[in-house]
Amino acid sequence: MTIDLHRLALDAIDAAADELDLGTWLRAMLHQPERSLAVQVPFIGDDGSIRVVPGYRIAHSTARGPAKGGTRFHPDVTPEEVAGLATLMSVKTAVMDLPLGGGKGGVTVDPKAMSELELESLTRSYARAIATNIGPDTDVPAPDVNTSERHMDWMADEYARVVGAPAPAVVTGKSLAAGGSLGRDTATAAGCRAVIAASARRLGLRSDARVVIQGFGNAGAHLAQLLAADGLRIVGLSDSRGAIHDPAGLDVAAVAATKAAHGSVIHHDAEHVSTTDLLALDCEILVPAALEGAIDAAEADAVRARLIAEAANGPCTPAADAILAERGVTTIPDVLASAGGVTVSCFEWEQNRRGERWTADAVASRLEVRMARALDDVWQVAEARRLPLRTAATVLGVDRIATALEARAGLGADELAS
Ligand code: GLU
Repeated sequence: MTIDLHRLALDAIDAAADELDLGTWLRAMLHQPERSLAVQVPFIGDDGSIRVVPGYRIAHSTARGPAKGGTRFHPDVTPEEVAGLATLMSVKTAVMDLPLGGGKGGVTVDPKAMSELELESLTRSYARAIATNIGPDTDVPAPDVNTSERHMDWMADEYARVVGAPAPAVVTGKSLAAGGSLGRDTATAAGCRAVIAASARRLGLRSDARVVIQGFGNAGAHLAQLLAADGLRIVGLSDSRGAIHDPAGLDVAAVAATKAAHGSVIHHDAEHVSTTDLLALDCEILVPAALEGAIDAAEADAVRARLIAEAANGPCTPAADAILAERGVTTIPDVLASAGGVTVSCFEWEQNRRGERWTADAVASRLEVRMARALDDVWQVAEARRLPLRTAATVLGVDRIATALEARAGLGADELAS
């Protein structure tokens, strides 16, 4: 389903701005991205022809540090969607208290219909087109939907060619050989697992609680393996082709092997359910780890979980949110539950800038500390202001961005704020 993610992000910011009683100029700064770039991305097709697709890179805010956020390759990418996702990234990095702002990029293309050579040509062309707008001190891309370390290595290499010097800190999510960080590939999942474990304890859920995960990409697949290893039962899984169900718990490693061999979880030997019915399965924990807008009012009505952890960006619509809140379902919002990736991206950026290499244990323990602190911060705001977790997280993030903007404003800002 298509949702207006930009509208959604702005509505969330407005609600937080009302709660914080922010002045007009701060609201305007939060509404409008700092810098938006739309580019043409020509690349060479396997048949020798040149194809041209549109691409975008939007820096929503650098108030707290360089803009930071992923790069999405998807046929539905629009400048509005990228602006919305960039806005969410500013809130996400602020909730995590990282020294970074928010940005996002995207190319309107179907990468699943492309060969490896075409993808490399496309990615390098995109990197050249946005090279003037990105950099270790200005805007630092990373992977997102349908991009991975392969694409990030190409982007870093292309950027280095444009500026004439290696600059690994320009992009995160690179392979280890190209200056990536240990633990970056599993970071979104590890961060989500940390907030699920802490929230499940708060809610008094059983240690072998049943989990349904929608989406078996980087976040969903790793999370399924981590949670299964923790003793939770993964009773439902899906990818873009369909969903599978086993009330006794799926063998996640076997599902991953099936997906690697045959392209989809649906080839695993288990009961098939529709992707809509997946969301209504009997379980304690539901993790939307696919695309935005996956849970709307109808799906929310059918949800049987007590806890939702948003591993994807923007999976619950506002209508769904209202219904879930009414029904007493606790939702850990995307800006927190999916923030493990950007947090380890921040660690990668710091390592690159300092010429360091941290151990896997150092990365994992720093991530745990950050996630626990952010979750506590959000619960505290929620309790103090009597807000749902999503609004509390946005209030926390917006407050931190606004404080940074105010600190940097000129002497006249007080008058402007009134
Ligand atoms: N695409 C991821 C996100 O939405 C990671 C961004 C990053 O690492 O900069 O949070």
